[in-house]
Amino acid sequence: MAPFPGSGLAKGLAVTLRTMTKKTVTAQYPDAQPELPPRTRGVIGLFEENCTVCMLCARECPDWCIYIDSHKETVPAAAPGGRERSRNVLDRFAIDFSLCMYCGICIEVCPFDALFWSPEFEYAETDIHELTHERDKLRDWMWTVPAPPALDPGAEEPKEIAAARKTAEKLAAAQAQAEAQAAPHPGPTDPPQGGAS
Ligand code: SF4
Ligand code: SF4
Repeated sequence: MAPFPGSGLAKGLAVTLRTMTKKTVTAQYPDAQPELPPRTRGVIGLFEENCTVCMLCARECPDWCIYIDSHKETVPAAAPGGRERSRNVLDRFAIDFSLCMYCGICIEVCPFDALFWSPEFEYAETDIHELTHERDKLRDWMWTVPAPPALDPGAEEPKEIAAARKTAEKLAAAQAQAEAQAAPHPGPTDPPQGGAS
């Protein structure tokens, strides 16, 4: 049966009427910035001081898009007669975001908390080579990493904080004891004057 003339228009108007009072869900980006959840996977920041150049992230990355160069340095013995040690020094750390698939494996496997997600996503480039972010750029992303959420009030105190607190308490107690010992002791009091006549 042939459609009723004008039925398409009526259907269209019905859809318009049905939806015109509903809340808009379209975000007018880039005029309006989206409200992203704090754990959004936008870009990866490098906290270089924590990186020991263990290479775990580069080895586990499924896309092989983490590039790390390093050299070894000899650290002199801490005490006379001790042994010299060698340590890795980071020369290059780069992530190619044109290959990265944002799986987060590198962040999960890093044993030293040197990699973090930042929700920043506005780093499109006209030249694909610019999507390889070198160490300095990765470090700058750290400024955009949100602070971790507060601990659950009933959660166990983190080991690092508990150890630091105990050390601080011991130091404070030792200092208080030293101050008490160093303080001048009060002299003998004069005997009371007067008496029975
Ligand atoms: S998020 Fe995944 S793909 Fe991207 S650098 Fe890390 S491990 Fe590689
Ligand atoms: S896994 Fe962590 S510590 Fe090891 S090289 Fe990667 S960022 Fe550095």
